[in-house]
Amino acid sequence: MRTSKDEGVLLYAFTCGYITLPMSFFLDGEPGKAKVPACVFLIDHPNGLVLFDTGFSDRFVGMEKGLGKIVDMPKGESVADRLRALDIDPARIDYVINSHLHIDHAGGNALIPDATIIVQEPEWDFGMSGEDTAYDLQDFDTGQSVKRIAGDHDLFGDGTVIIFPTAGHTPGHQSVRVKTATGEAVLAADCCNMRRSLDEMHLPDHCYNVDQYRGSLEKLSQLRRNGAQIFYGHDPDFWAMVPQAQALDLSGPGTI
Ligand SMILES: [Zn+2]
Repeated sequence: MRTSKDEGVLLYAFTCGYITLPMSFFLDGEPGKAKVPACVFLIDHPNGLVLFDTGFSDRFVGMEKGLGKIVDMPKGESVADRLRALDIDPARIDYVINSHLHIDHAGGNALIPDATIIVQEPEWDFGMSGEDTAYDLQDFDTGQSVKRIAGDHDLFGDGTVIIFPTAGHTPGHQSVRVKTATGEAVLAADCCNMRRSLDEMHLPDHCYNVDQYRGSLEKLSQLRRNGAQIFYGHDPDFWAMVPQAQALDLSGPGTI
């Protein structure tokens, strides 16, 4: 396997389950339904291994009732399985950055036993409050140490992995800028569901705070204008083009 010790920061992407929801959930006013991936990233930094989100829990494998009707978690696609396929023991992961704590983003946290979980303070508090049924304590209250942050956070102190708040979808949603040797990636998650969300400033049919949501899209728009590759959170067409489980090459426009 390639290593960040030789090449600098490397970024990998893979999907960990799917969910089928009304399209308006992602783009207000759009008809029909969409089956969208839950997306996970591995950041290999010389000073540590980091996950951004963990997809769905493996408890959904084979589940046909309840949430199992809309969640599809294929066997062998949990975050732990994805890591082992890259020859990485899940216990080697140092940090899990959760964009937010919904079941399709923090569901695999339990499979990463020794990581420090990094969330924005308001996100942890809101998740624990029980106000929103898209949170499930069994996913995210899993015993690892939790580092609650407030605002921007430069994870390794060298500008390569910068966490920044992108609230609106939830109170403490956050995204990450990753500077690799081949370019900059922005791991958006649910502050930007689809490429069209950003192209058209097209909001979902509901969010925690509309003004914050719009402000987060503006931040992403600026980063995209400056040349970053945005990884849209749940865009099935975009994700069909993302090479999985290999170090991504971000050089040049339209690479992905
Ligand atoms: Zn969400």
